[in-house]
Amino acid sequence: FDEITKVDPEVAAAMTDELNRQNNNLELIASENIVSKAVMAAMGSHLTNKYAEGYPGKRYYGGCQYVDVVEDLARERAKELFGCEYVNVQPHSGAQANMAVFFAILNPGDTFMGMNLDHGGHLTHGSPVNMSGKYFHCVPYGVNDDGFIDYDKVLEIAKECKPKLIVAGASAYARAIDFKRFREIADEVGAYLMVDMAHIAGLVAAGLHMSPIPYAHVTTTTTHKTLRGPRGGMIMCSNEINEKFNFNKAVFPGIQGGPLMHVIAGKAVCLKEALQPEYKEYQAQVVKNAAALASALMARGFNIVSGGTDNHLMLVDLQNLDRTGKEVEKLLDEVHITVNKNTVPNDPKSPFVTSGIRIGTPAVTTRGANEADMETIAEAIKAAVIDNDKAKAEALVKSIVEKYPLYA
Ligand code: PLP
Repeated sequence: FDEITKVDPEVAAAMTDELNRQNNNLELIASENIVSKAVMAAMGSHLTNKYAEGYPGKRYYGGCQYVDVVEDLARERAKELFGCEYVNVQPHSGAQANMAVFFAILNPGDTFMGMNLDHGGHLTHGSPVNMSGKYFHCVPYGVNDDGFIDYDKVLEIAKECKPKLIVAGASAYARAIDFKRFREIADEVGAYLMVDMAHIAGLVAAGLHMSPIPYAHVTTTTTHKTLRGPRGGMIMCSNEINEKFNFNKAVFPGIQGGPLMHVIAGKAVCLKEALQPEYKEYQAQVVKNAAALASALMARGFNIVSGGTDNHLMLVDLQNLDRTGKEVEKLLDEVHITVNKNTVPNDPKSPFVTSGIRIGTPAVTTRGANEADMETIAEAIKAAVIDNDKAKAEALVKSIVEKYPLYA
């Protein structure tokens, strides 16, 4: 941070503190990851100086010949990685990718279905406090008593409300999602299927989760979760569907102005990394670690919603321990373990308190942690939450973070 220190020591100091926090803490927030130095260098580059409204070859500004190369590389790599015909790499975030799709397919007031936020869905899938729930009519679906998506119920609701669009995908759902089944349901009621694979994009890229691309009319994702790229979003579909809805126009000028070319460069670098053989090994380890951590926690008296996980995350239901998500998030923070409080299905507590926590393995796996380390992490969580032994928890956390230094 030498340059920043010279110009702005206050910001440099906070950035140094944050780097130390990331290095000294066990990062178990399921939506976070640790990008490579190459991805970070692309993001912190002179490409931020360039205005490039429009798309490669058709810009509203001069001097775009080199950023065109960057955006084309990002697009071609995304197509190769996910096997899609059309991709838009400009959405500034996952929320904006979703907004662009809604803007392209729906008219204000149209009915769509999305997963209930309390059951693991995302705010942008129809929450009343989000644009998706304010401008469109959302009919939610959810999970059954065992914590699995109830596909028969999804069909029943769809037949009743006749949605124009069904959104599949979640932020806090630990089980594999059957996109083929979702498409069959959509076809049965004449709806379009949008899949938001933000959380599982890295697993999909590595062939560890059913790909939505063959089934969804349109797929959105973030680039910064399991995929391990810069913060941002993407939209993917077939040429045929894009000809019908024109997602380029929905992103710009529909909802955005100039693209963030430095972030698009980061996306291109991340997608190149994702095409390498070692990326598959990384994603496989993410999944193995999540399974190991879920088993190790259950062996120590924690209840895991749905009894386990198929992906990179798990939801811990704390009701049997008489603890709230809010309390446990704070307790774990004090021993340098970072998680987020999360509602569990049919949670009696408010979203600010909650009865659960969400735990994920993408970031600790990037640092190098393996299944044996998951036992240690589970023991640390037990020490903090059940045994009230802060010193033991802190010592266990220290043993892991010192073994796998950040950006070593
Ligand atoms: N979609 C899903 C499924 C998510 O989990 C998230 C973020 O948590 C988003 C979209 C929104 O992404 P962003 O925070 O980049 O707007």
